Amino acid sequence: MPTCRHCGAVRDDADASALTWVHERDPGGQVRWLCPSCARRHLRDIEARLRDPWQ
Ligand SMILES: [Zn+2]
Repeated sequence: MPTCRHCGAVRDDADASALTWVHERDPGGQVRWLCPSCARRHLRDIEARLRDPWQ
């Protein structure tokens, strides 16, 4: 079963929350999963970085 690459939570296909998991494919073709709470935090980090004036 896929696990969250940040917190190690296990993605349960039988659970409705599995639909809200985010997956990314790295250059090697490996799929990495983010659980919903880590995905939200991750998105906030990306947005915060985009707002940084030095970028
Ligand atoms: Zn997680």
